[in-house]
Amino acid sequence: MKLFLFLLLLLESFFINAQHQDKIDFVRGEILITPLPKEKKILGKVTYTFKVLADVDSVFLDARNISFSNVKLNGAKANYSNTDKIISIHKKFKKGRSYTLFLDYSATPTQTVYFLGWEDDVPDNEQIWTQGQGKYTSHWLPSFDDMEEKVEFDLNITFDDSYEVIANGKLVSTKSNSKDKKIWHFDMQHPMSSYLLAVAVGNYQKQELVSKSGIPITNYYYPQDSLRVEPTYRYTRRIFDFLEDEIGVPYPWQNYKQVPVHDFLYAGMENTGTTIFSDGYVIDSTAFIDKNYVNVNAHELAHQWFGNLVTEKDGNHHWLQEGFATYYAYLAEKGIFGNDHFYWKLYNTLTELQDLVDKNEGQSLLDPKASSLTFYEKGAWALFMLREDIGDAAFKKGIQNYLKKYSFRNVTVSDFLEEMESASGNDLSAFKKDWLDNTGIPYDKAKNSLIKYSPSLRLLFEMEADFKKAKSDDIDYAKYWNGSPSIHLKKNILEYHQNSLPEEIIEKAFASDTVPIRQTLSMVADIKRYPKEAFESLLNDKSYVTVENTLFKLWQTYLQDRKVYLDETKDLIGLPNKNLRLLWLTLAMLTEDYQGSKTKVYFDELSGYTDSRYSFEIRQGAFFYLKEAFGFTDQNLKDLMQATTHHSWQFKKFARDLLKEVIKDQDYKKRIENVSKELNDEELRYLKSIEY
Ligand SMILES: [Zn+2]
Repeated sequence: MKLFLFLLLLLESFFINAQHQDKIDFVRGEILITPLPKEKKILGKVTYTFKVLADVDSVFLDARNISFSNVKLNGAKANYSNTDKIISIHKKFKKGRSYTLFLDYSATPTQTVYFLGWEDDVPDNEQIWTQGQGKYTSHWLPSFDDMEEKVEFDLNITFDDSYEVIANGKLVSTKSNSKDKKIWHFDMQHPMSSYLLAVAVGNYQKQELVSKSGIPITNYYYPQDSLRVEPTYRYTRRIFDFLEDEIGVPYPWQNYKQVPVHDFLYAGMENTGTTIFSDGYVIDSTAFIDKNYVNVNAHELAHQWFGNLVTEKDGNHHWLQEGFATYYAYLAEKGIFGNDHFYWKLYNTLTELQDLVDKNEGQSLLDPKASSLTFYEKGAWALFMLREDIGDAAFKKGIQNYLKKYSFRNVTVSDFLEEMESASGNDLSAFKKDWLDNTGIPYDKAKNSLIKYSPSLRLLFEMEADFKKAKSDDIDYAKYWNGSPSIHLKKNILEYHQNSLPEEIIEKAFASDTVPIRQTLSMVADIKRYPKEAFESLLNDKSYVTVENTLFKLWQTYLQDRKVYLDETKDLIGLPNKNLRLLWLTLAMLTEDYQGSKTKVYFDELSGYTDSRYSFEIRQGAFFYLKEAFGFTDQNLKDLMQATTHHSWQFKKFARDLLKEVIKDQDYKKRIENVSKELNDEELRYLKSIEY
């Protein structure tokens, strides 16, 4: 999973469940589900086949808030009991025998399955999608919260045939069930952990690709996004072919699918063969420079080996998933964006990790409660340095042996290290001590590796050493600026030394045809130090972030030209979060005499963006500008209170914090109390929980 704040999920998964059932081996699960979006329910039937490894008198499955109407064991009525967390089947199970268990059930998931757009009047925005990791598939399917139970699942889904239905595995047939209903039958050939099950339903079209090795790749998109397919999925095939080649073990599943969904919880999730990701990454070609899907694309794909083919035994071995997916994604990006991009990425994360250590917050990679920075970035660093230690050939050999030996099984850090030791003939205890056990980071060793490979970082470190010795005025910046073609070095010089740079360098930066270099210029604090015309030229750059920064700074600085700037940018929308449109509406209303007759139209548009039909990124932006400049309407307050129950953790927090703040104002307080009458108990729960 590519996400932030993994910690919370992890803590929950450690202490609440992890009850391992080692006397039973579930082999197959044949699932038939019927999602009922209006009722937010899942009706399901599942048949499990399992082997008994030792005599036991009960078998259990995780089943959260699931009610059962029929439970059969080998075709006969079973003796069972259930709670709101599990179902137990009671019988004297004999070692060596196989059984089939049939469960007919109804689930009302409070998490894991998200039904969006079924209650509003917006056409074609209906979606259903699942998120299993950290959220428990057992909310919609009696299954196994323990990652160690791997099952070959086959999914059958009954739904309205006007929608696209996507799930793990190969779609082998669809058949009409009744009028307007179809059953989609997906086949899987290998076992996997339950958290990797996925279902997505919505209005989609698809782009079909085939990897060099012949694996079908399907990239889904909304019908209105056909022009965004190329920039969004740019390099997909190249990444796929690269990873198969670099890892040296064939892609383990029958096919690969990527599905964007609305208001996703994270950046992306690597369900087996079926990555679900945030539609905030569905972008046009101008946005590519500001925010693209390439890293998430590569990260989730790498998990198909590291996480899905071999799966951590439990959270103590989480490095084996996130560190590896992060590292291989960086390698894939290195092939696409070049060495400089790769080493500067490592340099930047090394700096972040060192900052953590300086604050005494460094963490061991073996700490199951470590932060995502540790698991992802320190994890990637550990692999980079391991490869340094043992060399390319042994590294690749060890990775291949490890993946082959533990295919479709669970792994520990020791399993991995043993394979690397035997492939390299090295004793890796020093590596383990430095990179895995250590809460600090071997900074100098890491830095020396960067110096070895990256000429531009070598210059950066020289410049920093100069800076420590001399006053900034005495530094020969031109030597560093001209010393390397590195965009990253130039950006660093502009960002950290803007106040001391000679005119000549600023001129060169403005004259550059590289958008990211010019973007750094758009971020400066005081634009009056730069020639007006040069700064204005940034307004035409192919980057929505550059244009956003530039428009705001110009508008703030050159009052007499506000109308010109607004006219120039009036048709721009920007990133998927509408960054430019929201800013433009705000500035247009704040500009005296600018299309005064339209002020109400502009306000209605901006104010309308807090509605739940828009993505939470857009809503968050609209709340921000309204709060800063205009205040909230009653409808905005209602939208805000509804947002306090949103399924996205970040947006929910944003809404709760904002509500807590605005309610301090007496006028708002009265209006909020008034609007509350139109809300239901769930929507009012947060308001009632705070003191105001
Ligand atoms: Zn991940």
